[in-house]
Amino acid sequence: MQRIGQGYDIHRLVEGRPLRLGCVEVPSERGALGHSDGDAAAHAVCDALLGAAALGDMGAFFPSSDERWRGADSRIFLREVATRLAAAGATVVNVDVTIVIERPRLAPHLPAMRAAIAEALGSDVGRVSVKAKSADSIGALGAWQAVEAHAIALIDMR
Ligand code: MG
Repeated sequence: MQRIGQGYDIHRLVEGRPLRLGCVEVPSERGALGHSDGDAAAHAVCDALLGAAALGDMGAFFPSSDERWRGADSRIFLREVATRLAAAGATVVNVDVTIVIERPRLAPHLPAMRAAIAEALGSDVGRVSVKAKSADSIGALGAWQAVEAHAIALIDMR
C-alpha cells in the first residue's frame, strides 16, 4: 500500500545562530532559534514521513523537554525516523520539501541538502527533492523573522 504524509515546521530567525537547512549549514547573519539545530527542512521531512506511516510526530519522539536533543544535529532525527519506518515495514518512495526563507538565496545549497537528507534516510538522492522560495517581502517570513518548510512524503508500507 502506498501512503502519503505531510509535514510543516517554522523556526524564528535570530542573529548569532547558525542557519542549518536540509542538514547543511548555510552562511547567513541569522540562524534558526530552536531546541535542536532548528533545521526546519529536516523537521518537516521527519513529520511528513511519520505522518505517512501514522506513527505520530516529531514532538512525540523528540520532545523539546528532553535535554538529549539540545543542539541536536537533525540528521539524528532523520535516521531515527527512517529506522522507525523500516520497523513498521515502510520504505520511502520519495520526499519533496519546500523551504520558505527571505534570504540568503538557497539555490547553490540545494544539491547538498538533497544528498544529505537522502544519506540520513538511507535513501537515494533521486528520491529527495528540495526547493526554496523567498517570501516576497510579505509578513514575518518576508521580514526575515522566520524560516518555514513544507514537506510531502510517499511511502510503501506492507
Ligand atoms: Mg522544528
